[in-house]
Amino acid sequence: MSYASNKLLFPYSRKGRLVFFFSIFWFLSGSFLFLHTLILKNHIQEQQIQTAERALRTYFEHNGGVSGTHLSLQNDLPYQLDFIRLVSGKDQLLITGNSRMDFSGLVELNPLEQGAWIDLKRPKKQGNWLLVSQTLANGSIAQAGKNDSGSGLAIYKKSVTDAYWFFILSGVIALGLAFLSASLIRYPLRQLESDIEKGLKQKSLLFQESREQLDDLAPLYHLLEQIFFQNRQLIQEIQSSLDNVAHDLRTPMTRLRAVAEYALQSDRNEPQLYRSALSDCLEESERVLSMLKVMMSVAEAEAGTMRLELQEIDVLKTLEDVVGLYQYVAEEEQITVSCTGESGVLVQADKTRISQVWANLLDNGIKYGHESGNVTITAERDNGEAVIRFYDDGMGISETEINRIWDRLYRGDRSRTKQGLGLGLNFVKAVIEAHGGRVLVTSSLQEGSCFDVRLPLHHGATQKS
Ligand code: ADP
Repeated sequence: MSYASNKLLFPYSRKGRLVFFFSIFWFLSGSFLFLHTLILKNHIQEQQIQTAERALRTYFEHNGGVSGTHLSLQNDLPYQLDFIRLVSGKDQLLITGNSRMDFSGLVELNPLEQGAWIDLKRPKKQGNWLLVSQTLANGSIAQAGKNDSGSGLAIYKKSVTDAYWFFILSGVIALGLAFLSASLIRYPLRQLESDIEKGLKQKSLLFQESREQLDDLAPLYHLLEQIFFQNRQLIQEIQSSLDNVAHDLRTPMTRLRAVAEYALQSDRNEPQLYRSALSDCLEESERVLSMLKVMMSVAEAEAGTMRLELQEIDVLKTLEDVVGLYQYVAEEEQITVSCTGESGVLVQADKTRISQVWANLLDNGIKYGHESGNVTITAERDNGEAVIRFYDDGMGISETEINRIWDRLYRGDRSRTKQGLGLGLNFVKAVIEAHGGRVLVTSSLQEGSCFDVRLPLHHGATQKS
């Protein structure tokens, strides 16, 4: 069997989701990095402008011109500045400290322009400029500048480029590593998948080799083997149960058919014969119907959908009623049935279902008992529970069978000579558990069995105990 056709489309597959979440994470990190570089840029620019402004102010202070009206420009330019330009109306004065630079383009520059990393267009090939501007007391405008090539902007650009490269490379590497580790993690699972596929084809799931190779998956392999083994056992049981059902249904159905055929072939003027044939048919069909009903009840109880009509019932009373019904059968088998116990042991239960449980346990006790044997039934209170015990001194149950008697359609090997469907105990267990109780069995071969049913006492009754 191949699951290739069931594969999800890439966007919805695990890989697709991995890429999707990774892209979101990457996009957010990228945005964060971008914001960070913007903040860094503003910060560097602000610092540069402040330094240049301070240098310009200090220069004029030393030359008596910030607040005064008389300038005497005698000092050299500070190293933070490459030029100072004084503009008063149409007159311009340029003070430079760097004779190798071409300052001719400054003539057209707006004297109030300032900022960092400004591309002046002219003079060309001299990089970006830092410009600050100040109005002096005499009304003229002082504009100062510093060529920025090789310093702040270049360092900023280089670090931003490096950061982006690092970001892209680390993203690609991280994504690659994520895929690699995902496929490494998937490797043993793929191995497991192919082992199961192989095992299913060969109808045998024994993973000895893989279990040794992939020792971290050994417990999983072991569990799979167990599941497979249990399934095989279950299938075998279902097959043998189906055989049993077919066998048990065949007898009443064959009888029904034979009676009907016989009646049809006989003389038409014998209404008495028809009557008796119809009555036999009715009896057999009742039998088949009751078998099917039990099967359905068990299925309902196991699925938790059995409807219980709960009422307060006296356990001993219901037991005595059932014993009364089985008196005739017990006498036929020469078995003595006795029923003793405390009266007033009350439980909340569905009377019909509980009586069916008692009937099944008593029926088994008689069916699997010895000639002239005994079946003893007791009812008492114990620790807030009603305890009902069915003892018999019959054939008993072997150790190998005792855990299987509760299974649906299971019949003991030595019980085949007796009529039965293998549904009785399954029904008993399902109904008792549906009432919140439990049922246990102890037995010894050829000595007898004891079925121990425990039901929660009805509240009013617990206080009496
Ligand atoms: P059935 O009686 O139709 O076979 P049950 O579910 O009632 O089905 O019982 C299952 C099996 O448990 C029986 O086939 C029998 O082997 C064993 N069993 C049940 N009750 C007794 C008993 N009282 N003594 C011995 N064996 C029993």
